This record gives sequence, structure tokens and C-alpha cells, in this order.
Amino acid sequence: MPPYDFDDIETRWQKRWADASTFEVTEDPSRPKFYCLEMLPYPSGNIHVGHVRNYCITDVVARYKRMRGFNVLHPIGWDALGMPAENAAIQRGTHPEKWTRENIAGMKRQLQRLGFSYPWSREIATCDPEYYRWNQWFFLRMLERGIAYRRKAAVNWCPSCRTVLANEQAEGGECWRCHSKVEERELDQWFLKITAYQDELLDDMGQLAAWPERVLVQQRNWIGRSAGAEVDFPVEGGLPLTVFTTRIDTIFGATFLVLAPEHPRLEGLLAGAPAEGGAREAIARLRGQDRRARQAGQVEKEGVFTGRYATNPFNGERMPIWAGNFVLLGYGTGAIMAVPGHDQRDFEFARKYGLPVRRVIQADGEGAAVEAAWEGPGTTVDSGRFSGLASDDAMVAMTAHASEQGFGRAAVTYRLKDWLISRQRYWGTPIPVVYCERDGAVGVPDDQLPVVLPPDAPFTGEGGNPLEKVPAFVEARCPRCGGAARRETDTMDTFVDSSWYFYRYLSPRKDDGPFDEAAMRHWFPIDLYVGGTEHAILHLVYSRFWTKVMRDLGLVPFDEPVTRLFPQGMVHKDGEVMSKSRGNTVAPDDVVRAYGADTLRLYILSVAPPEMAMEWTDANIEGERRLIGRLWRLVDRHAGALRAEEGAPVPAELPPAARELRRKAHQTIKKVTEDVDDRIHLNTAVAAFHELVNEVYRLEADVSAGPARAALREALEVLVLLMNPFTPHVCEEMWERLGHAEGLVDHAWPAADEEAAREEAVELAVQVNGKVRGHVRVARDASEEEVRRAALEEPKVREHLAGRAIAKFVLVPGRLVSVVVR
Ligand SMILES: [Zn+2]
Ligand SMILES: [Zn+2]
Repeated sequence: MPPYDFDDIETRWQKRWADASTFEVTEDPSRPKFYCLEMLPYPSGNIHVGHVRNYCITDVVARYKRMRGFNVLHPIGWDALGMPAENAAIQRGTHPEKWTRENIAGMKRQLQRLGFSYPWSREIATCDPEYYRWNQWFFLRMLERGIAYRRKAAVNWCPSCRTVLANEQAEGGECWRCHSKVEERELDQWFLKITAYQDELLDDMGQLAAWPERVLVQQRNWIGRSAGAEVDFPVEGGLPLTVFTTRIDTIFGATFLVLAPEHPRLEGLLAGAPAEGGAREAIARLRGQDRRARQAGQVEKEGVFTGRYATNPFNGERMPIWAGNFVLLGYGTGAIMAVPGHDQRDFEFARKYGLPVRRVIQADGEGAAVEAAWEGPGTTVDSGRFSGLASDDAMVAMTAHASEQGFGRAAVTYRLKDWLISRQRYWGTPIPVVYCERDGAVGVPDDQLPVVLPPDAPFTGEGGNPLEKVPAFVEARCPRCGGAARRETDTMDTFVDSSWYFYRYLSPRKDDGPFDEAAMRHWFPIDLYVGGTEHAILHLVYSRFWTKVMRDLGLVPFDEPVTRLFPQGMVHKDGEVMSKSRGNTVAPDDVVRAYGADTLRLYILSVAPPEMAMEWTDANIEGERRLIGRLWRLVDRHAGALRAEEGAPVPAELPPAARELRRKAHQTIKKVTEDVDDRIHLNTAVAAFHELVNEVYRLEADVSAGPARAALREALEVLVLLMNPFTPHVCEEMWERLGHAEGLVDHAWPAADEEAAREEAVELAVQVNGKVRGHVRVARDASEEEVRRAALEEPKVREHLAGRAIAKFVLVPGRLVSVVVR
């Protein structure tokens, strides 16, 4: 057998798998199914090690499940639309599609060289019209049901480029091209009504028992449901103002009201106010502050007194009405009652403008000095007839009172907003709508789908959506009246593409529907979904929303698409996240050239539990390369003799060294099976491979000849089978050299023989004060502590101990235990 030439072995097996279509899969109802999914990559040009880690985890699970007899679907595709392709086109004078397709081809070669078990016939790219056609089809179904709708919304606008900018083109409030200050403009845009599903998105988390809690917490916070009350505050000389509060129990401590600078009532309030120099200008300035910075609390709190007053309906107190930059229109009613004694934000604002601070909640151990707001619960004080109640009881009583009196009601508010999907860009799914003078916005009929991106749009970098500059695209016919119409030039947010792609893998070339129903019933829900934690919100919420819409359209019979979510950890180097700017990236291609795909795969799974961050070190790659080399040499030395005996059963009677090796081999089967199966603790499985290889070397001389050789053959075959999901190329090669004609992809996973795995037991006599009182059976390698426990619990021995204190405990290994009691 030649030295370990990984390049030859790996490319040869990859070709064999490809030629035999080894990883293609069809629905097989006779076997349990397993849908093993990874997040599809963006074709940026290169696979990075973060991808490799993700795809190694799923590939091990997919190959393992296949060996366990599952019908496994483990597909891959490309999240191929989006901004970077358009920017590359502008910068390099190419076309986004050309750039994207070239990147896909290169990255596909990289994935194939890593030996992942993908059914390539199911590959999808979201930039294929046969894919995005179904984005359009779903959009039309949502349009029919009012889930897709159009309204005015603010966009970033560069006044000098005269164009709409994406958020990432307007960072820091500056245009990325000309550095002009970005303005906000109101444009008609398309939304998906995800808020119609906000309660369900929260409540159905009950079905996500196999999702990590930290992901659900992020989703909960993003949806941001808070229960509270709305209270109407009468305004002197005006209509009441409604505020939303989650802390109505603090209402006796409210000393002023604050409105968002965008609040529609402000203009009217100012009109009726005593001449207040500059209030209007000051409020306009607050409105001009960066909205995202305001949302994140990154701007200094500022406010303007409107000159008007409201009345607290609970105690009749007069309260000034302010406008403040820390209040946002999108949350609650865009107006708050400020309770500086019990809200730190209000406290800081009150201190700055000399407004009164009052304590109406008392908590244990909390001093009288007012240096900060007390935000916790407590007992109400100075709250009229509601004094002396616990916060929770006060909320119930006060909400009921407000409701009886007609100036308030229980209310729930959400942070989640409807999903704005309009993008003023070329490289996205065209929104299938035309505008007609007579009929307004009209959906493109299904039989005219897909609305295809015109290939000849100009990518000048001058701003604006290139689609607007293609008359043949823009000029359309109204499907309803046949008159002249203008086609929508906005394209869809690329998160639309990734919200349902995992259904398209079921029947990627189907042209009369988004997916095949029988295949969906076979494969869904997804059993395991592996990807980065950065997708906890957005993608993973949008996907859940999309499936719920599909359920309401009668397309799927379940509420949730993914049974188990497994977020993998990041890859660090030199203690930091890998990134181009830090210059600490590792190119997978270089590692494959130097060490081979099998070593890279084994290494990347060996360092840390897959859900934790891992630190990349070259020294540790060497360790995994050596492991493969050591196993390879063992097989090399013994393959000839073992091949001749292939198929012979393991003899019942074996010498001790052979029994020891068998024990370790079967213990390793048990351990690796547990590690890979449900826990996905792949790093401890790799550690177990090292242990077993060490054990083979330790016992090699004693198991190389005679009947003992059966144990050597078994140990080597167990290693090859267990390691196959991790290092499939070299394992196939060794398996073949050990004399097997059938490959490993569909070979049965080895079963542990409990009897062989059991540590050999020895019987020990137990003496109490010099007399044998009983016997115990313990493992040969049991610790003194284990022996002691077993001996003292032996019933007859216990009788003779009779609760007396033990003066001495002596273990003579392999023979006896002596206990002396007083
Ligand atoms: Zn500009
Ligand atoms: Zn019309």
C-alpha cells in the first residue's frame, strides 16, 4: 500500500461518487426520513472556514443518518440575489449575473473538493427565473389576501445623487458615493403584513422545544409584545392624548407627557400654544436626527416644551406636554407619560430640564435618596385610593378603574413592524405588479410569470434603480383593461428568497407549482437546521412567518418548518473573529492543498463542541493529520493478512489482549454513537478515535497473529466505519483495501456488543473484622471509591457493620476487601 496520498485518494473518490450519483436521493417511504439542512451560502466568491465548519457538521450528521438506515435529504443551493453583485457590477463593469454565476461555479468546485454528500441535481440558485418566479407567485397570493400591501414609508434619499439609498449605503447618515447628508423621503413601498402573525410567532414557540432558548429569546425581544394599558389624558383646550404604558401602577408619579417629534398632534398643539419662540424649529431639528441612533438610545436626550398642558385623569394634576427625541412614533402610541421616579430615561430627561421627580412605588431596602429611578416593582404610595397595593395588583385595579371611567383600557403593543420588502435595486426579484391610470396597482397574472429581469440594464453607478432605465421593462400593458401601464421597478428584499428555499429543494425543476406536495409530506418538517447565530432574527422569523402564510394558503399542513435548530459557533484565530480587515483569515483551499479535505474536516470538528466558538491553530491540524496517518499505516501493515481472513467470525475464546482491544472498540462504538446521534458532540467523538487508535498501537504486537487477529480486524473496521462520516475519502479507500467490495455510504453503522464492551468483572471477598461476610462483583478497573461503595452496600456486609464507624478500609486489588469497625 502506498503512502497516504490524500490528493489522489480524495479526487478519485469524489469522481467515483459523482459518476455513480451516490448522493442523489428519492423519497423512500420504507425508511425513516431525515431532512438535514444548512443555510445556503451567498455566492461572494469564496467558501470561508465558517461555511466549512457549518457544512462539516451537517455532512457528518447526514452521512451518519444514512448509515443508520435513514432516507436522508441534504441539499445545497445559492442565495444569489442582492446588493454585493450589483456593486461588483458597477465597480468592475460587468453584469451582476455574470459575476454571480462565476462565483457559484468557483464555490461549487470548492464544496465538491471538500467531499460533501450533496445531491447536486437538487442545487438551486435564487437568481434563476425558475426560482424567483415562485417568489412572485407567493407575492400574488399574499396580495390577494391583503398580506402584501402598499403604503408610504420613509426611505434614505441622497439629494445630490437624486436616488434612494439602501441602509448600508447611508451609514452614519451620509451618502456612500458623494458623502452628502442623507434625507428621509416618503415613497410608496410594498410591505408584508407579518404583524398579522405576531401572536402566533410567539405562541408557536411552544412547538420549538428543540430550538436553543437564546434564539427564542432574541425572537421574543424582536417581536416585543408588551401588555399594558392605554390612558387618555385630557388636554387643556384640545382633544385628549392617548399614551401607552406598561406601568400604569406608577401613574400617580407621572409629572409630564412626552410626544415623539413626528407625532401628528404636535402641529395642532403648537398652533394653539402661547407664542413660544422657536419651538417649531427645535422640534424639526429633533425630527432630523438619525432615527436609528435615536432608536438605539445613542443620541443625547433632548426635548422641547410645547407650551400646552394635559391633566392626569387619576389625580387631576396639571402636566406640561413636551416633545422628546427619545420617544419614537412606531412604538405604542408615540406618546408617553413620563414617570421620572420610576423610569431612568424619564429621570435623566427630568433632571436635565428641571421637571419634578416623584416616588410612588416603595421597595424593600431602597433608600429615600433619589439618585436614580427605581424601575422595579414594589408597593404603591401617595397613590390616592390605590395606595398600599403590590405593583401587579395596582396595575389590575387601575386598569379596571380607567376602563370603568372610560378614559383607559387594557392594551398590548408590539415592537415588530410589517416587513418592508421594496428595494430600489436591479438584482432582486421583480415585484409582479403594473400600475394603470384606470385600475391602479394590478398584479401580473400567474400565466405571465415570471417577470424576468431584463439583461440589458445599465450599471453606471450614477444612482437610481437601473430597472427604471429600461423602457422595454417599464412599459407594460394593464392585464385588466389592456391599456398602457407602468411596471413596478422595485425588487424584493432578498430575505424573501431565503424564507422558503428549503421547500424548493423537494422538486427544484417543478414548473407548475413551488414544490411537490407528496415530496413535502415525505420530507417535512426539517429535522435539523444548522447555521450561524446571526440569523436568530430576520431569516429565522421570516421563514416561520412564510410557512404560516403557506399553511393558511392550504399548501402545508403544519405551523413550523424546522423541528431542531442548531446554531454553530464561530471560527476565531489569534483570539479574534476571522475577518479580512483583521488579516487573520484562513483560506480553505490552502488547507486542502496542504493537508487534504479529510484532515480539514476532522480538524474543524475536533477543536470545540460545534455550538461553541473554536480557535483555529495550525498545530492542532497537525494532530489530526497524524491520526489519519497512524490509522493508514496500521491498515497498511495488516491489510494483506486481514483481507485473507475477511468474513471469518470473531472466535468465542480470545486471549486477554484481544479481549481488551474488543472492549475498547465496542466502548468506542457506544460513545461515538451517543456523541454523533442526538448530542452532536462531534469533538468528543474525534477524541474517542484518538483513544482507540492509541489502544490498537498499544496492543498491536499481541493481536497481530493467530485468533487474536480477529480483534485487530474488528478494531480497524470499527475505526473506519465510525470515522467515515468525518473523513469519508480515506475511510472508503481503507475499507476497500481491507477487502470490501461495497462502499461505506450505505454501509450499516456498527452496533456495539454490550457483552464485549463490558469491563471484565472480578469477585472480591469482603471481610468485616477479619471474617468473610459477603462477596461483590466489580469491574476489573474499578476505582477504590467504587469498590468501597459496592462493598459497604452489600446486604450481608451491611448487617455486620450495623452502622458502626469504620476504622480502616483495605483493598487488595483482585482479591479482597477488609473492613475494620469499632
Ligand atoms: Zn450622493
Ligand atoms: Zn387598467
